[in-house]
Amino acid sequence: MLPSPQTDQLYHFARLGLPIGSWTPFGERFAFLLIALGIWTFFSPSLERTTEFRFDWIFEIWVRNLVLITIIAGGLHLYLYTFRRQGADWRYDRRAYPAKGKAFVFGNQLWDNVLFALGSGVTVWTAYESFFMWAYANSVASLITLEEHPILFVALILLMPYWAGFHFYVQHRIMHWPPLYRLVHYRHHRNINLAPWSGMSLHPAEHVVDQSDCLLFLFIPSHPVHVIFNLMFRTVGAISSHTGYDGLRLTKSRRFEFGDFFHHLHHRYFDCNYGSLDTPWDRVFGSFRDGTPESHQRIKERRRAMRARSARAPAH
Ligand SMILES: [Zn+2]
Ligand SMILES: [Zn+2]
Repeated sequence: MLPSPQTDQLYHFARLGLPIGSWTPFGERFAFLLIALGIWTFFSPSLERTTEFRFDWIFEIWVRNLVLITIIAGGLHLYLYTFRRQGADWRYDRRAYPAKGKAFVFGNQLWDNVLFALGSGVTVWTAYESFFMWAYANSVASLITLEEHPILFVALILLMPYWAGFHFYVQHRIMHWPPLYRLVHYRHHRNINLAPWSGMSLHPAEHVVDQSDCLLFLFIPSHPVHVIFNLMFRTVGAISSHTGYDGLRLTKSRRFEFGDFFHHLHHRYFDCNYGSLDTPWDRVFGSFRDGTPESHQRIKERRRAMRARSARAPAH
């Protein structure tokens, strides 16, 4: 019998005691790293070419990113939603995707999601990556190699999910400040039910903030692979965390793990799970919700306390 999303996700929680556990070869992190290494080895301009900003090499990066997202998001969408090859197995929410309505550009959630993912999402991603290729070529960012600094090189890769998770929590929490939410973040939250294209469906300004965690590498000696890998969490990672499924069935008993029930609950309830499972901030600040009745109750009490606090606050 397939486990329910709740119990399955609790299995993930249990593994968090060992951070290295999430680097399983059947998990998305390992895949992100392989993609980043592949991109750097076969599909990136050499640093000799990137000493000045030029249309040709920036265009190459843009095309590669566009193709990558189209293959991954488009492929998963076709497999899971168009041809329904996995049925409802491991799906979090049985409601239909895409939703229709005036809230979406073209009146259709899918085409709206594709527009923002390939439009602003890929463009901002290309801008950050191109900036760093120029920065490494001009020593604006300091470049290390695996041969010269193996410990730092590997440590940066292993710690990347925790940095990405921390940055995501902070910027996402700020995005839920009501004026910013109404101006920017509301666009992502029109997606109540999720599918692969929803992950990169953000307001263009939010793409700029969301992907800015790579700017850390202006201050830490690093390699283009680190920047490319970091950006994976915000691009390919956003697709895989919004699939609406908890994994892709490989064999009867084994699946490739993706999806993010934790974040799925954020889309359902809004005021919980701002970060990722790699970081403790939602537990620390009382917004942690894992889908169990106890966590629903905790959130209800938190809402009641917040309402009582704002009722007591003096009127301006
Ligand atoms: Zn949000
Ligand atoms: Zn989301």
